[in-house]
Amino acid sequence: MTIETKTMDKLIHGTAAEGSIRVLSAVTTDLVREAARRHNTSPTATAAFGRVLTGTILLAATQKDFDRFSVKIESDGPIGGIVAEATPGGTVRGYVRDPLADLPPNENGKFDVASIVGKGTFYVIRESGFDIGLHQEPYIGSVPIVSGEIAEDFAFYLAKSEQIPSAVLLGVLLQNTEPFISCSGGVLVQILPGANEHLITMIEDTIAHSPQVTSLINDGAGPEELLQSVLGVIDYEILGEQDLQFSCNCSKERAIALISSLGNSEVESMLKEDKGAIMDCGFCNESYQLDESDLRAMLND
Ligand code: ZN
Repeated sequence: MTIETKTMDKLIHGTAAEGSIRVLSAVTTDLVREAARRHNTSPTATAAFGRVLTGTILLAATQKDFDRFSVKIESDGPIGGIVAEATPGGTVRGYVRDPLADLPPNENGKFDVASIVGKGTFYVIRESGFDIGLHQEPYIGSVPIVSGEIAEDFAFYLAKSEQIPSAVLLGVLLQNTEPFISCSGGVLVQILPGANEHLITMIEDTIAHSPQVTSLINDGAGPEELLQSVLGVIDYEILGEQDLQFSCNCSKERAIALISSLGNSEVESMLKEDKGAIMDCGFCNESYQLDESDLRAMLND
C-alpha cells in the first residue's frame, strides 16, 4: 500500500520559439499542503520546503531515464536541510531537518527563506536501474547555495552544472487561516543551444513585468496560463501533461523488513523491553506500529 492523496496538481511541458526554448510549469498547491501537513512545518519552513518540492518536480520532468530524482539542500541555517525526491510518475516526497524552525519576515515583508536556509550545498541526485534490480551508480551534481531563496539556486545549478541558461520561478503563498497554503507553483524556462539571444532578453523582460506565479494561481491560473505569462508573445506548443501528487512508498511490510534486518537479538530486546516497535517514515512522517505478534513472526521467519 502506498500513501497517496488525490490532488488537482498538474505539470505541463512544452517548447517555444521553434523548439529553441523548453518550458515547464506546475501547480503544486495540494502536494505542498500535504507535505506541510504531514511534517507540521512552520510558515517559513513551508515556503522553503514548497519551493524545493516544486523545483524538484520541474527539474525532474526535464530528465530522461531515471527512477528517482532528488534535490538535497544541506545548509547551516535554522532549517538545517531540505530533501525532495521525485519519480517519473509525477509523485514527490520529502522532508526538512527542522520543520519548526521559523524566522520573522525579511525587510521586504516576505518569508525569509534565504536566512532559514543559510549557506551550504545544493545537490542533485539522479538514480536509475531500479527496474533491472540494480542501483546503478547515481549521478550526483552539486553547487554552492548562492541565494537560499531556492529558485535562484535551481537556476544557478542549471547554468553551472548543465550549462543551460534558465529562468526558474517558484512560489508558495500562505495565509493566516485554513488552509494555510493558498497556493503553490512554479515555472522553468530553459534556453537551449542555438536559441536567439534576443529571446532571453524578451523572456527576462516579460517575467519582470508579469505578476508573481502565486498571484496568478491564486486568481485561478493553471499551468498553461503560467506559461503564457512568462512567454508573452512567444509562440509555444504543449507536448504533454502530468498529474502530480505527494506520495511515499513506505508501508508496514517495509517497516517489518527494516526491523528484521537489524537481527534477531535486536528484535528480541524490542520484544522484551517495549513489547513492540514504532517505525516513523522520515519522508512522509507516517508511523507504523508493530506489536508483539509482528515481532514474534520475524523471529520465526
Ligand atoms: Zn513514507
